[in-house]
Amino acid sequence: MAKVSGCGDMSKEDTYSVLAERHGYRDSVRYRRILEYLMTPQQAELVALLPLKYEELAHRLGIDVAKVKSELENLYSRGVIFPRNPENLEEASFALAVVQLHDITMCSFDVDPVRDRELFELWDDFCVQEWDPDQVASWDRGEQPQGRIVPAYQAILDSPEILPCEDMREIIRSARSLAVTHCTCRRRKGAVGNNCDKSHSMVDIQFNISAEYLISRNAGTRLSADDALALIDDCEELGLIHTCENSTRMRPRWGMCNCCTDCCMIYQPLNRFQVPVTKCVAKSRYEARVDIDICNGCQDCADWCPFDAIEMVKTEGSKKYKASVDLEKCMGCGVCVLKCEPQALSLKLVRPAEHIPEPQF
Ligand code: SF4
Ligand code: SF4
Ligand code: SF4
Repeated sequence: MAKVSGCGDMSKEDTYSVLAERHGYRDSVRYRRILEYLMTPQQAELVALLPLKYEELAHRLGIDVAKVKSELENLYSRGVIFPRNPENLEEASFALAVVQLHDITMCSFDVDPVRDRELFELWDDFCVQEWDPDQVASWDRGEQPQGRIVPAYQAILDSPEILPCEDMREIIRSARSLAVTHCTCRRRKGAVGNNCDKSHSMVDIQFNISAEYLISRNAGTRLSADDALALIDDCEELGLIHTCENSTRMRPRWGMCNCCTDCCMIYQPLNRFQVPVTKCVAKSRYEARVDIDICNGCQDCADWCPFDAIEMVKTEGSKKYKASVDLEKCMGCGVCVLKCEPQALSLKLVRPAEHIPEPQF
């Protein structure tokens, strides 16, 4: 993606503030720089006027309709505007929120983390300095976590009471279409020199309309259900945490993230500001349990647990250390279960079905 040049008269420059205000960052110099990178002043004017008929847009900006159409095409391919129908860009709108602009402008295959490093640096600077602290403060004030953990399906294969919305196989098989796209948290961190040591970035699974949108924008690769389940297997092997919206909806609106606590825009800032994970992400209905008669004290589970919920403790009457789960901290992700070779760990169902709320809309 080539950087756009930001030059124009003062009123056009001010349109950036109008757009930034829609995302709650009117006075942010950092956010303005991102918008200036993504749009020329004239494109910003166009975006601020949307949705509006092509002819009216052309009239308001004093340019011809062909120019309006080509500029809107450019903005669509950059991930700045979102149409219901890509054939009809006059009905498009500016990104609804920071998160949408963040994800869509950095996930496309047309964006290159080396060539377009400046874009990733601008986003990273804004996220670290402004967005992460703001997000954490708002999660801390919120009443219900926005996300939830979906347990590793291979850790609950024997559970008799598993719900469809917590069974990765059911979630994947219920989708009409599926795509994988870049996890923009990892892609951004990698571009600024903090490569994720847990995983590559092609692990974000999207469903139905979102999948088709990403494929049409050259930002996603179509997956069959079998492909998606194979990817889920890889993610579980890598010790990633399945995270989606906190509801029983089978096609999660933000897709199925496969996160680590180092890069993720949710887990990493929560750690950084020492706010409990449950302020933003609900535990699964399960908790880890150790059979200390089987545990050999190898410590693999403690090394892999993303939430530092496992300690090695001396057992009574023995010099051996065994794993012990801190149930306050355990999020029920199942990562430890899959890493315990002797199968001393298991997930136990401890919460009722109502723990996972119905979708609000
Ligand atoms: S939330 Fe997790 S998987 Fe999703 S983009 Fe961020 S790190 Fe990647
Ligand atoms: S991985 Fe299993 S055997 Fe090793 S310490 Fe943990 S519970 Fe014990
Ligand atoms: S102990 Fe850690 S790895 Fe195991 S389920 Fe709980 S949070 Fe996940």
